[in-house]
Amino acid sequence: MITRLTYEQISAAVQDAYDGCKSIKGGQNAHYIPYLANVNPGLFGISLCLPDGRTISVGDTVYRFGIESVSKVPTAILAMQQAGAQAVLEDIGADATGLPFDSIFAILLENDRPSTPLVNAGAIAACSMVQPKGNAEGKWAAILNNMTALMGSEPVLIDELYRSEAATNFSNRSIAWLLREYNRLYDDPEMSLDLYTRQCSLGVTAEQLAIAAATIADDGVNPITKKRAFSAELAPKVVALMSAVGFYEHSGDWLYATGLPAKTGVGGAIIGVMPGLFGVCAFAPPLDESGNSVKAQAALKHLMKTLQLNVFSNTHFDIA
Ligand code: GLU
Repeated sequence: MITRLTYEQISAAVQDAYDGCKSIKGGQNAHYIPYLANVNPGLFGISLCLPDGRTISVGDTVYRFGIESVSKVPTAILAMQQAGAQAVLEDIGADATGLPFDSIFAILLENDRPSTPLVNAGAIAACSMVQPKGNAEGKWAAILNNMTALMGSEPVLIDELYRSEAATNFSNRSIAWLLREYNRLYDDPEMSLDLYTRQCSLGVTAEQLAIAAATIADDGVNPITKKRAFSAELAPKVVALMSAVGFYEHSGDWLYATGLPAKTGVGGAIIGVMPGLFGVCAFAPPLDESGNSVKAQAALKHLMKTLQLNVFSNTHFDIA
């Protein structure tokens, strides 16, 4: 069955999700990274981008916040683009861990593999895979260029956030060295850790992340610049990674409840991808106990319910 959605319906649904969720209380800013603890907890925005480049934004969608773990998606794409999807599967994996994002136990359980580029271990491993090997500045340029291609505009490093994370990332440092012990890092451990920490500290807006999500929904073509950011055959694999582990140990619950492949970050952003239809980003800093934004989750659930969308449904949509 094919159902037609109009731009007006989608716009109204975004506004409705914003209005319906803006007074939701609860949650706490990420407290283990000092910079994030001090971000205004009242910020809230939703931005949605269609494959033709039309964008719907409500609330604080041009506020620059820390991308945090949403950055794991672009760098997974970069590693797949440079080394091939099969190499990422073999060297990192594509499995859910069922455990928190920074779990060391998951590395031990998964027979020494980082599991997926969308948890901390796999994301540090993905940074280690990025080319040119051994060249920190060259790798950083590749990470930035890739993110810029996905979003259609540049991210900006939040220096204070970077310093704040670098001073407190003891658990990520243990992960990097444990992976090194298992020969699951493919470049210098400290360099890989630093690249990961820096990419998490990039400042982006909800509008930029909605465009990046729409680039994935549009099979790798950026809907604003119209330029190809990555090969079309990687897009379903990226959506598969997001579906499997985008909400860490709650990924199954999230997919079951919403039918929206999504990826969260402790900065308060969640991106969602409906292939062929749209990319969306909701942002609000207070998080639940697993590190997922309370209001952004509610807003995306609201949106999917209003539009009666579900990536697993046999109803196919197009947009008039
Ligand atoms: N930089 C954060 C960390 O490594 C990101 C975690 C997240 O956003 O889930 O702990």
